[in-house]
Amino acid sequence: MDQNRYIISNGVVADGRGVFYYNGSVLVDSGRIASVGPLDDLEIEGLPVLDVGGRLILPGLVNMHHHLYSHFAPGLAPHGPSEGFVEVLEDLWWPLDASMDESSIYWSSLCGAMDSVRHGVTTFFDHHASMNLSEGVLDVIDRAVEKVGSRAVLCLEVSDRLGRERVKNQFEENVRFWSSHRNDTARKGMLGIHANMTLSDESMAFLGRQKPKEMSIHVHCGEGRPDYDFCVEKGYHGPIHRLDSFGLISPGSLLVHCIHLSERDYRILEEISPAVVTNPESNANNRVGRMDRGRIGRFLLGTDGMSGDMVASLRSAFLLDRQAPRLWEGLKDAFFDERYDYVRRFFPDLRGFEIGSAADVAVLDYVPLTPVSEDNLLGHLIFGAKGGNSFMTVVDGKILWHDGKFTDSDLNDVSLVSEARKAALNLHGRFEALDWNGHLR
Ligand SMILES: [Zn+2]
Repeated sequence: MDQNRYIISNGVVADGRGVFYYNGSVLVDSGRIASVGPLDDLEIEGLPVLDVGGRLILPGLVNMHHHLYSHFAPGLAPHGPSEGFVEVLEDLWWPLDASMDESSIYWSSLCGAMDSVRHGVTTFFDHHASMNLSEGVLDVIDRAVEKVGSRAVLCLEVSDRLGRERVKNQFEENVRFWSSHRNDTARKGMLGIHANMTLSDESMAFLGRQKPKEMSIHVHCGEGRPDYDFCVEKGYHGPIHRLDSFGLISPGSLLVHCIHLSERDYRILEEISPAVVTNPESNANNRVGRMDRGRIGRFLLGTDGMSGDMVASLRSAFLLDRQAPRLWEGLKDAFFDERYDYVRRFFPDLRGFEIGSAADVAVLDYVPLTPVSEDNLLGHLIFGAKGGNSFMTVVDGKILWHDGKFTDSDLNDVSLVSEARKAALNLHGRFEALDWNGHLR
């Protein structure tokens, strides 16, 4: 089929901010949204029509915090009981990232990006960690993501938990990728920072001095109590205050979790308005508590590597914090309005179903049977769709996934599974052998 001009037809078209057609169609032309409207109005003779059978047609979903490398984590037995937050890192995530090599990074990124596309996610903000591989690592992930066709904002976490000498290389890798992708419309860069508690004041000062002004940070912030205590013991008023003390916070910052904060931290959030990302499934899994939605009204949603499924994350956010003030409004804003506003900083052409915006579309594999409207859209996502299995995923007008298959036949090939399994098996072997500091156990 000619993918330059076609109609996605016969679905419930909604963008969560005013566009709503029960029997709607979307005309895609040269990678752009050319028209959106009622079914009959858009039938243009000669154009290919993709009938989606009443399914829900949304602008492509966005995962605001992901770890593609975690795609190879299922089945790993942590090195210890992992009772506290730091132990979860030392027993599982740090030995895993110390074990990553180029092959496992490529294959976990490829399979993680494919998983996202299968869930209608067209853009993700990835936070990569591999303490033993810095130089060129973001190009490896970029190559995998490009093969799948997703949009992504990539970064490598900077941390001096294995010594300060790595910080410079990690920082340079972030700046190199960020600066070489400033004009890219598919992939962008940020400055990845692990968290306050694994960076000394000297390293923070280095980042604050060297970071280009226009470059935004992507950082875990106040995730567990130890991150907060670390900052207070160093004489700061909490994790956001410490980052701000080194000049690292700006309106473009992506602050992930924001659970353990001080009054001063909340004040800085109000003054500077960086983006805050909550990851309900990860927070429940790590038993770190919940972001205070009474204090943080504007926020975004991510999965923190728990899955590639943003509708599942939305459902969990609803179920795990039923007492939250502005429960429905807050989640609807996070899922639609707030993320449109933030994502535009990186991809200005992503404006939902506005005419002329880049054609990123997710047709969820869900046919609403009960009445559906703009007002109860979120209820359909949470209680109807229940998860975001996608029927069709489109990026920049290019159909990546349709009716259970990738349009790039390489991605459906069985040999891909055996290559990925080989890389995952090798990774699990190294994980068994290595401690979190990269030494043999
Ligand atoms: Zn994370």
